[in-house]
Amino acid sequence: MRKKIVAGNWKMNLSFEEGQQLTSELVNMYRDEAIKDVVVVLNPPFPHLYPVQRLVGDMAGIFVGAQNCSDKEGGAFTGEVSAKILASFGVSYVILGHSERREYFKEDQTLLATKVNQALAHGLTPIFCCGESLEIRESGTHEEKVMEQLTASLFHLTPEEFSKVVIAYEPIWAIGTGKTASAEQAQEMHAALRGHLASKYGQAIAAQTSILYGGSANPGNAKELFGKPDVDGGLIGGASLKSRDFIEIVKSFEI
Ligand code: PEP
Repeated sequence: MRKKIVAGNWKMNLSFEEGQQLTSELVNMYRDEAIKDVVVVLNPPFPHLYPVQRLVGDMAGIFVGAQNCSDKEGGAFTGEVSAKILASFGVSYVILGHSERREYFKEDQTLLATKVNQALAHGLTPIFCCGESLEIRESGTHEEKVMEQLTASLFHLTPEEFSKVVIAYEPIWAIGTGKTASAEQAQEMHAALRGHLASKYGQAIAAQTSILYGGSANPGNAKELFGKPDVDGGLIGGASLKSRDFIEIVKSFEI
């Protein structure tokens, strides 16, 4: 059975106190509401990682992830943070290939492949994001585009390496816009992605790969999205900043 995962992407938001408060609320709700069988990943900005990790403590089911890592192993790269350093602070996941990093920081597919290698080499689970722009969706070439993103940055991995990767399908036109892909659109793409993974790595690995949906998911639409057979959870931006909303999303699986 593949994992159900809900990951919160805090992006560049929240002060130290706000981050601590949000984390405490989430940990308490997760425990008090007896949430089971859903992996929660909190992806705050870098300085929050260690204090968030301390607050989460040994709470089973909640993990801490970074929003990025360097493609380099270490050394004189001012301002960068390596996968090796993140792992040494107890970080378990790292978001790679987010559309904001592809667009604003010009991260290309080759660079992302190297970042994926770094993450895996240090035991971090990459949450690898893919997704198409509105222009590409309207041109009807969205499936090819997304498959190509996977091929270019992930298909050099061995089956053993690939089996540690989580995929997040995030249509760019749905991120932070309030415009969610319909559950049918998400299912269609997730099924196509799984088929693409099967063609490279075989049915067994494709069947156990978690594929998350991201793009304006909220407590009102998560149930329908997560009810689709190939949608294994979500990567949540805006709604991850409010504890009640985020926990309601986490509770949206039919278990
Ligand atoms: C994201 O940034 O990964 C995201 C899905 O954002 P939002 O939920 O705000 O659309």
